[in-house]
Amino acid sequence: MTSNVKIKCTLCGNISSFSAAKPRCPVCDNIWQEAVYPLEKLKDLFLNEIRNLPFDLWRYHNLLPLNTYKPKISMDEGGTPLLHASNLGVMLGNKNIYFKDERQNPTGSFKDRQAALTIAALQEAGINQLVLASTGNVAISYSAYASRAAIKCWAFLTSLVPYEKMREVAIYGTQVIKITGSYDQTKRIASEFAEQRNLFHDLGAKSIPCVESMKTIAFEISEQLTLTLSPSDIRDKWIAPDWYIQAVSGGLGPVGVIKGFQELYDMGIIDKIPKIGVIQAEGCSPMVTAWKANKPKADPVLNPSTHIETLATGDPGKTYEILYEKISTVTGGTFESVTDEEAYQMMHFLSKMEGLSVEAAAAVSFAGVSKLMRLGTIKPDEMVVINCTGHTMPVQNDILGSGWSMDINLKKSRMEPFNQDGLLAALSEIKYEKYPKIIIIDDDTNARILIKRILQSMANFELFEAANGLAGLEKIRSEKPNLIILDLMMPELDGFGVLDEIQKDESIKDIPVIIVSAKELTESEKVRLKNHIHGLMQKGDFGSIDLQSEVSELLKLT
Ligand SMILES: *Cc1c(COP(=O)(O)O)cnc(C)c1O
Ligand SMILES: [Zn+2]
Repeated sequence: MTSNVKIKCTLCGNISSFSAAKPRCPVCDNIWQEAVYPLEKLKDLFLNEIRNLPFDLWRYHNLLPLNTYKPKISMDEGGTPLLHASNLGVMLGNKNIYFKDERQNPTGSFKDRQAALTIAALQEAGINQLVLASTGNVAISYSAYASRAAIKCWAFLTSLVPYEKMREVAIYGTQVIKITGSYDQTKRIASEFAEQRNLFHDLGAKSIPCVESMKTIAFEISEQLTLTLSPSDIRDKWIAPDWYIQAVSGGLGPVGVIKGFQELYDMGIIDKIPKIGVIQAEGCSPMVTAWKANKPKADPVLNPSTHIETLATGDPGKTYEILYEKISTVTGGTFESVTDEEAYQMMHFLSKMEGLSVEAAAAVSFAGVSKLMRLGTIKPDEMVVINCTGHTMPVQNDILGSGWSMDINLKKSRMEPFNQDGLLAALSEIKYEKYPKIIIIDDDTNARILIKRILQSMANFELFEAANGLAGLEKIRSEKPNLIILDLMMPELDGFGVLDEIQKDESIKDIPVIIVSAKELTESEKVRLKNHIHGLMQKGDFGSIDLQSEVSELLKLT
């Protein structure tokens, strides 16, 4: 098999064949080139073949620059799940939020797509040494695949990369070179080192395999949305989301993803190209600054000030120009930033409410969606796919704080073997106080689940639920809770009715009530509620933190 790819120079238009060993245009020496395929001719082959191939990124081999279908070094990368973020959806007021769970790649981040394809292309070109600069994940991922391919790897890392990630790089047998300096400086040193020794240097967004690998994210998203939303036998029309959102550093991901959607569109497989939301960490957001000033070139950030080292590219160079051009003229979309704190809060939310432990860089994308929903840039009915780029390593100690465990102290001599009685006695040291009772009344099951999770993650409560006003009222009368959380729009007896009944009943009329509702209140309704409630949260526009602080205040927990 030979690949269908041809390489086109973006400067002089020269067409050549692909080899990882020759990254520059043979005519004008330009490094910015593009992979092109005879899309019209390939469409049927592309669609037919994938029906019979396993769900990993190699099923799209007809649109990849490799001469084999699936290289030996493959660890079945790609083919990650597309999952529904239902609790986040309730909180943000958008039922169509999905995320591509790229944590489930072999080394825990979406860099595995890039590493697998690049290392396979290096093998095909007979290259056996590789130099790279990285903020962590590229080095981990390339190191794993380089070890499978017996390629020697030199990784230049800034000293800010967390120790656990450096150790992970080293364990694969990569030579780690720690640079005390910014990521941009580290990149320059790596490139000089490679030039001096005449070694292959990974070029990120300038590299054909890197860009091509990221296309597969777009292909998978469209295929998976189609399977989820319109499961039928006709598979030559796929669904594109309204938005693709990703946290970026250098910006390679969105460059490749846009190319992927564009190719599907050009083949007539999808009807639109999604808007792209590029999210950066505020302390290192040269693209966002340039976008907001309407500038096609970004000024480098010389001293990035974010703890999210994964996203610390201060100088995006030409990659921003490419994204600016595409997003302003082809795809639509925007650039936005979030603070480290917003990302850390989102990490807590995702782990405690969605069961997802993600690294801070991945949380930046989710926090970006939250911000874009609040700003009204993303509409409540738009379908959003977030790239959940990477898993947390044991590096996020700093965000957990203390007091997260209940400690059992087996007081007696450590030498004595445990017996059942000793363990039970030790367990009884954990005091079960009487916990405050809270009743959640809401007819929307998803909303009850979310509120329950928010409360469970803050303290110990005895929680009760009711799915309508009448059942809720009954529970209030029987349990006499310390707090009521009430929805307004419910069948039979609505929230206003419940409040009226509470007011009439001496035995319960002093119980504090927090309203969590999707209803836009009219002036007269606001007056009706006044004096009878203690807090009001708008569904789709409240943070877990807001509800938690309201609850602690009312229950005097602190
Ligand atoms: C590399 C990386 C990013 C940024 O991706 P780019 O498209 O290269 O800017 C985001 N999150 C994680 C976890 C990463 O490893
Ligand atoms: Zn050229």
